[in-house]
Amino acid sequence: MTEKMRAFVLHAPGDMRLEEIDMPKPGSDEALVKMKSVGVCGSDVHYYCHGRIGSFVVKNPIILGHECSGEVTAVGSDVMNPRVGDRVVFEPGVPCRKCWYCRNGRYTKCPKIRFMATPPDDGALAEYVAWPADYLFKMPDSMSFQEGASVEPFAVGLYAIRRSGLYPSASVAILGAGPIGLATLEAAKARGAGQVILVDVMPNRIALAKEMGATHVIDAEKEDVTEKIKELTNGEGTHFVYETAGTAATFKQTVELARDGGFITLIGLPQEEEIAMPMVDALIKEVNFITSFRYNNIFEEAITLMGYGRVNVKPMITHEFPFAQTLEAFDITENAKDKAVKVMINF
Ligand SMILES: [Zn+2]
Ligand SMILES: [Zn+2]
Repeated sequence: MTEKMRAFVLHAPGDMRLEEIDMPKPGSDEALVKMKSVGVCGSDVHYYCHGRIGSFVVKNPIILGHECSGEVTAVGSDVMNPRVGDRVVFEPGVPCRKCWYCRNGRYTKCPKIRFMATPPDDGALAEYVAWPADYLFKMPDSMSFQEGASVEPFAVGLYAIRRSGLYPSASVAILGAGPIGLATLEAAKARGAGQVILVDVMPNRIALAKEMGATHVIDAEKEDVTEKIKELTNGEGTHFVYETAGTAATFKQTVELARDGGFITLIGLPQEEEIAMPMVDALIKEVNFITSFRYNNIFEEAITLMGYGRVNVKPMITHEFPFAQTLEAFDITENAKDKAVKVMINF
């Protein structure tokens, strides 16, 4: 008889159940990991509430969660690393390793990528997950499982900073102080940014941005963001602008906030399929547009920066729940944004 384990299975929007399912068996190149912490992501909550994100639609029951860490309990016959007992962070996207993208170092663009909690692929809200050993990263002893589960969202911010080509001492504006905006803040600091200005509308997130080392914060509800940023940058705008809020208004605003020749990086995923942008102003200013989605080959750098304390993402973990209370964790993430930033589920 196959051994059983517990997992949260999403059947339809709003219908996620704790069930007994078969325990996975690691393949020859996989490790079996006992899950320890899973962070709740906006995308998990979106699938839970709406059953789809763009063209990804939940058609069959799916297990959510993709920000995760755990402890290795068994390994396949070909696995040298990690070993049983190692504490590991998951990189949640495993590509085919053979296609043009994989062979050219852009493996997260692999058309065959299997990405946790993106239909039809199962995610991490299960007691055990079998995962390819080379997409597991050993955690330093100094790192908690909760921090391990925060590597994934931090990687999103770090990758955006890498893609933008941020250079030391540059001035930075970040729109949105949710988990990705705050991750971008930490990454910008670690990569040597000078002035870092965070913009949001929620007092709890603005306070957190200040606590995590933003040099300036702006409450967009109370202040004129463009005017304030001009005032803080001798009338010029910032060298780099990062959009993490994912709204049409903030997308457009990036052009006003960047200085001439500046770099605008779009990270937030808007609901709208198309957004009108002030392209004439952008052209005259010669701004550089960069887009950034998830990450590529950056987990090792993320873990190193966190492990040596160059980056501290702990303040953004505002709530923790035991695995059995996963539904509550989802509810708080969706409905209490004025209190919750990153919500962690612990096994
Ligand atoms: Zn995520
Ligand atoms: Zn591939």
